[in-house]
Amino acid sequence: MSGTARAGRTGAPGLPDPAALFARRAEGFRPSPVRAVFEIAMRPGMISLAGGNPDTGALPHAVLAGTAARLLAERGSEVLQYGSGAGIERLPELVCRLMDLEGAATDPGRIQITAGSQAGIDLVVKLFCDPGDVVVAEGPTYVGALGVFGSYEVAVSHVDVDDDGLDPEAVAERIDALRATGRTVKLVYTVPTFHNPTGVTLGEERRRRLVAVCAERGVVVLEDDPYGLLGFDREHRLPSLYSLDPETVVHLGSFSKIFSPGLRVGWIAASPAVRARLQIAAEAVTIHPSVLGQELAAEYVGGEHWRPALDRAVARYRSRCAAMMAALEEHMPEGVRWTRPAGGFFTWLDLDPARAHGDLLHRAIDHGVVVVPGGACYADGRPSTSLRLAFSAAAEEDIAEGVRRLGRMLRA
Ligand code: PMP
Repeated sequence: MSGTARAGRTGAPGLPDPAALFARRAEGFRPSPVRAVFEIAMRPGMISLAGGNPDTGALPHAVLAGTAARLLAERGSEVLQYGSGAGIERLPELVCRLMDLEGAATDPGRIQITAGSQAGIDLVVKLFCDPGDVVVAEGPTYVGALGVFGSYEVAVSHVDVDDDGLDPEAVAERIDALRATGRTVKLVYTVPTFHNPTGVTLGEERRRRLVAVCAERGVVVLEDDPYGLLGFDREHRLPSLYSLDPETVVHLGSFSKIFSPGLRVGWIAASPAVRARLQIAAEAVTIHPSVLGQELAAEYVGGEHWRPALDRAVARYRSRCAAMMAALEEHMPEGVRWTRPAGGFFTWLDLDPARAHGDLLHRAIDHGVVVVPGGACYADGRPSTSLRLAFSAAAEEDIAEGVRRLGRMLRA
């Protein structure tokens, strides 16, 4: 390559400081703490309890390979072509069947297919929020949502969660207090089921009340629900917020945790008027999600393999969660508390402040384990003595060893 004029080596003066030209919103861009440690987590001998990765090893790969080959052979010119901004035709209907399983009957005209629920958060915030608005969200909340709020210059007001999730009365008071000081609040963002990062689930009565207090105040509830079908007890399912009030609630769903995050396919369920505007916003960014990805998702959830495959994956998450609970009992020193999730991927540890000194992430890495530090899950990145641990992606023996290493770190 030497001697060729590559970008950055042309000798042209260029911009002395491109960052000086960045838009103000660039200040709100936040790196994901999970992505930032991605390479460290891959080091030999390191145990990662950081990423919320699903167990794609449990999927029927041979069946999927056959499906992909058939799609390309039989309908190649269609699936490799531009598609509809609303999504491929049959997917909204299949999404409605999935939502039915969660007790949230809806119709295909209310479904917008997205490139994953991360894109869904982005589109909804883009549609509803102006710079300076305040979004009310759980404290702590999903780090990826914080990245969206920051990039639209939207402030976040955190409401604490307890073992039953958000307290709706506290949300109502917060909205009223913010409005009394002249702030604009149009959106409450929540992950009510198997919360990322705490693993807790919003109780049934609180669900009804949360939707009611928001409806009374003219506030949209953005229900982010990628984990709803990952309950350890299939018989015990709480109503989704969307099922309680499909006009007040905008619901985000995803194939990432029940099928594949690499395909980047999810959906938004919203009133027809909201859905139509979201489609226009989405077309301006991605035009539409990958047609091949959508076709694969449709074939998968339209077929017969996905339900038993999901049951197997959930059984694995259940036993990994149990392994993590047992390891925490065994290795955590006095004064550490953790949540006991009924589904999903995560537990949340509150450490004894006396032992939680310094940079917890780097202390953990020094002990050979990668975690998400709690402060990353707050908009202000506050010092926190909490950690998020994922049990979804590590083998049970690695979970036990990782927690043992954390215990050693806390005693050091
Ligand atoms: N919301 C929450 C609460 C999540 O945990 C995640 C994934 N970690 C996402 C959204 C993004 O999911 P997707 O892959 O569908 O974009």
